Amino acid sequence: MKRRDFLKKAGVGAAAVAATAVNAPVVRAAKTYNWKMVTTWPPKLPVLQDGCERLAKRIGELSDGRIKIQVFAAGELVPALESFQAVSDGTVEVGSGASYYWAGKEPATQWFAAVPFGMNAQGMSAWFYGGDGLKLWEETYAPFNLVPRPGGSTGVQMGGWFNKKIESIDDFKGLKMRIPGLGGKVLAKAGGTVVLLPGGEIFTSLERGVIDATEWVGPLHDLRMGFYEAAKYYYYPGWHEPGTYLEYFFNKKIYDGLPKDLQNIIDAACTETEHWVLAQFEALNGQALQTLINEKKVQLLQFPDKVLDDLRKLSDEVVAEEAAKTPMATKVNKSFKDFQKVVGTWGTISEKAYYDIIQPKFPLKG
Ligand code: CA
Repeated sequence: MKRRDFLKKAGVGAAAVAATAVNAPVVRAAKTYNWKMVTTWPPKLPVLQDGCERLAKRIGELSDGRIKIQVFAAGELVPALESFQAVSDGTVEVGSGASYYWAGKEPATQWFAAVPFGMNAQGMSAWFYGGDGLKLWEETYAPFNLVPRPGGSTGVQMGGWFNKKIESIDDFKGLKMRIPGLGGKVLAKAGGTVVLLPGGEIFTSLERGVIDATEWVGPLHDLRMGFYEAAKYYYYPGWHEPGTYLEYFFNKKIYDGLPKDLQNIIDAACTETEHWVLAQFEALNGQALQTLINEKKVQLLQFPDKVLDDLRKLSDEVVAEEAAKTPMATKVNKSFKDFQKVVGTWGTISEKAYYDIIQPKFPLKG
């Protein structure tokens, strides 16, 4: 059909065509969003706070300045453990933390961060993107008006710093240790006392004997805290945090109201930063471990197998108790356990078999 015929048939007059032609090139200026992000991390905390800064920068770059995010460390705008509520209320648009901080709001949140003897970074990632993990996380956060996104993993953490050797489960009896989350509940079951301290008070408390032991993160962050000057033994592995996942979360009403392309940009920037976070942890923990061994002459010790077996039994009890608290926690725990069973079995003949082969080439000393 010729254009003229079409216009005639469509009943569009010449005046209307002219008006459309005049109006067509008008491009409205894209709406810009100025957001705030609140985190649970101290300013400049390597990888963790850095990752939040990086995410904000990438969302700005990828959206060509349509979303600008100003990042606030813990306490700068709201206290560390109020970021969840601040984003939920819409006081600020974005937050970051680790989902086990919100166990008091909904116990199910804990499975998306770390479960003692649970999955490592690789398994968690597989659960999020290859299983039901992310879907369940979204379902858990939706009643709080939040959209969660995986924020990268710390990798396997270290078991912690001790001033006496741990040779049996009884050595935890009466031990005062800084250890949060489900791991802390396991320690309490073993007869220890959980002491919760802000990051800035841990070193002094350990040095003065206010606490007997502490865990923190891994070699990179532990080296910076100087724990090697306050404790004799550095234990591994971090059975209580085998691959702690960090998180970004967005106010759901605001996120849902965004144009689709901006939602896609946010999701892509989160996934990219998620990858960056684990890569940084692996690279920098590796370097920091060398410093701790060769320069700081730290005594590294592995928890005996029997101690780990006993801790595992207590962990199973703690996890079952937590899972029974709400229907959501029951559902999330089932998905997590079923998934771990399957990927764990595969890991036995893939990752583990491979590590066993290459391990002698990478001794801890010499
Ligand atoms: Ca930790």
